[in-house]
Amino acid sequence: MIEAVAAGHKAAEGIHAFLQGITLETETQKVIEFPSLQSNWLDIPADVTPQGRNHPRPADPLQRIHSFEEAVPGFNEEEALEEANRCLNCGVCCECLECQKACEVHAIDHHMQETIETVDVGAIVVATGFKTFDPTPLAQYGYGIYPEVYTSLEFERLNNATGPTSGKIRMKNGKSPERVAIIHCVGSRDSRYRHYCSRVCCMYSMKFAHLVREKTGAEVWEFYIDIRSPGKLYEEFYNRVQEEGVHLIRGKVAEVSDIPDRPEDDGRLIVVAENTLTRRTLRIPADMVILSVGLEPARGAAEIGRRLGISSDSDGWFSELHVKLAPVKTASSGIFLAGCCQGPKDIPDTVAQASAAAGEAVALLSKGTVQTLAEISTIDPDVCTGCQSCVQACAYSAIRFDNGRGVAVVNDALCQGCGSCAAACPSSAASVNHFTDRQVMEEIEAILL
Ligand SMILES: Cc1cc2nc3c(=O)[nH]c(=O)nc-3n(C[C@H](O)[C@H](O)[C@H](O)COP(=O)(O)OP(=O)(O)OC[C@H]3O[C@@H](n4cnc5c(N)ncnc54)[C@H](O)[C@@H]3O)c2cc1C
Repeated sequence: MIEAVAAGHKAAEGIHAFLQGITLETETQKVIEFPSLQSNWLDIPADVTPQGRNHPRPADPLQRIHSFEEAVPGFNEEEALEEANRCLNCGVCCECLECQKACEVHAIDHHMQETIETVDVGAIVVATGFKTFDPTPLAQYGYGIYPEVYTSLEFERLNNATGPTSGKIRMKNGKSPERVAIIHCVGSRDSRYRHYCSRVCCMYSMKFAHLVREKTGAEVWEFYIDIRSPGKLYEEFYNRVQEEGVHLIRGKVAEVSDIPDRPEDDGRLIVVAENTLTRRTLRIPADMVILSVGLEPARGAAEIGRRLGISSDSDGWFSELHVKLAPVKTASSGIFLAGCCQGPKDIPDTVAQASAAAGEAVALLSKGTVQTLAEISTIDPDVCTGCQSCVQACAYSAIRFDNGRGVAVVNDALCQGCGSCAAACPSSAASVNHFTDRQVMEEIEAILL
């Protein structure tokens, strides 16, 4: 297909040259400069050994001489799988346009160009979500080493009806697994990586166990530190998967290897763990291992936070204004949080928070006017020396520097009256209304008297 597309491009260039009256020789000698694709693909991992393309073998002429069978019958299933496995999932599109034809709602447009649009808004709901923990540094679990070790997100995709196996749980060799191991808390509750609980992994792991049992009948072994199932009907689901025969082992997995104890387990993965309830070491042969990876702040979250002037906690999740009284507001008025960008949470909690954020935004917009605080900063332009210390100190991006006048200016709508600028200003040009130095000193004196 790639060669056909290349030949198509070449033919188009020839036609173009003919119509422009350019001789083909001149045209083919031209060095064609392709626009830089920048990093539009995933880099090929360094440890990948280049593997030649498989070509379908022509059928034996003596066999096909008396029939109308295809001269080149194409790949058999095994060869097709082998060829498909060469794909490194780099994301480069071969422009066959099949997706455009297949999409019935015409949602794919290959000619679309990047456009940058500026939209004036009265409120912003930030819902940039999360990314999953990359388990590669935990080499003992064999991710990236053994093909049958999957992250939970990869398994979610495998299990999805629109996934590569149309939702059938299959190994890379196309066979159904007979035993699946699920390892909890990969990257979470681990002082070396993420110390917090990612909240959703216990429940999604049990969902996987249930689906594997239902779809394949395979044995499922889950290895956990603690099962955390707070939520409506979650405990009942935990009991249900146990009744379905899922083995729940309390203990952290030490390693996943391909070194079997018995010859009949050759080619399988061996999951080594201690059952901390019975104090026995287990070596469980499995065909597939799923790593229940934790949740981390989304890529680019820090940049979004910087641009919008919203702060983050020490783990990188966006901070709400008040953990109990203003859980979807941020310190920047008019900017609200929804979902996992504020911390790990499941879909029901995400939806509840998103509804609250939307409600807050609508409440703000429907008023038509915004009431600002009275206790906000002011900067005296006659005293300001233009050092910009206040611009750096402001956590709400409420102060900008007026290049024309050479002074700092406060945006009244953004200022929260925290007083950082007043504390940072070396020339005392910045002060907070109702909290001038004189007022504060007089209050102190009144208290002391
Ligand atoms: C493997 C796995 C299985 C799970 N299974 C379940 C389950 O069965 N039930 C359940 O309740 N929960 C489950 N969860 C949790 C669930 O995925 C989350 O609760 C949910 O996705 C949170 O939604 P969100 O919108 O906050 O974030 P996300 O789903 O991460 O969505 C954020 C969106 O924002 C986009 N985005 C990010 N940055 C930008 C930007 N700068 N500009 C524009 N767009 C941006 C992202 O591309 C993404 O589309 C599971 C999680 C995992 C990892």
